[in-house]
Amino acid sequence: MRIEILTLFPAMCDAVLSESIIGRARSLDLVHIGTRNIRDYTADKHRRTDDSPFGGGLGMVMQCQPIADCFRALCDDWGCRPHFIYMTPQGKPLTQQRVKELAQLPAIAMLCGHYEGVDERVIEVLVDEEISVGDYVLTGGELPALVLTDAITRLQPGVLKADAAFIGESHWDGLLEQPHYTRPAVWEGRAVPDVLLSGNHALQEKWRREQQLERTQRKRPDLLG
Ligand code: SAM
Repeated sequence: MRIEILTLFPAMCDAVLSESIIGRARSLDLVHIGTRNIRDYTADKHRRTDDSPFGGGLGMVMQCQPIADCFRALCDDWGCRPHFIYMTPQGKPLTQQRVKELAQLPAIAMLCGHYEGVDERVIEVLVDEEISVGDYVLTGGELPALVLTDAITRLQPGVLKADAAFIGESHWDGLLEQPHYTRPAVWEGRAVPDVLLSGNHALQEKWRREQQLERTQRKRPDLLG
């Protein structure tokens, strides 16, 4: 799978993408994740990529031309048109279900806005989907793009140590995951549940399922609706 993040601040993304599980997946070529600096595609002699909004208002708006040229250059380089996602607080809230679907695609490009956002016409002409990471506003689309990239990448074959490690995790099938414990068996007077030390796998499986239901009911009853 190939993912490209179109941004004015590639260094923000590169730092995160070279660490930990995602960094390892990239170095093993399990996934291609790249960044493109939208500013490299501006036709403006002063390398500007934004301008003040028509009709007045605070803040600047990212212009169509650098974004469009950046995306079209990516399409030319890859020889295909990736699914183009604009990260925006106005998009559909991201869910694990949508992550699963996106993880099946061969190529995705993500557009990070900044300032007031991007000129509406570039969304109308080029963008396939708008995704939000929640009902709050951030300064830019880089963190949302990294969130989506991480969520998609960990579902790619070979990225997690056990390929099915993500199955049964929170939100995989609509439930939250059971609690986890590790050594020591007693910490500050609090003991691990006996069943986990019993060696009885059938009882442990039953316990896990009960815990998933209990936690979901207690913490996120809306998921059970
Ligand atoms: N003026 C815009 C509005 O009210 O809808 C918000 C612009 S925000 C300050 C700048 C950029 O950050 C957006 O263009 C988007 O790319 C990104 N962004 C901010 N919050 C986000 C969120 N919750 N989900 C995804 N992207 C977000």
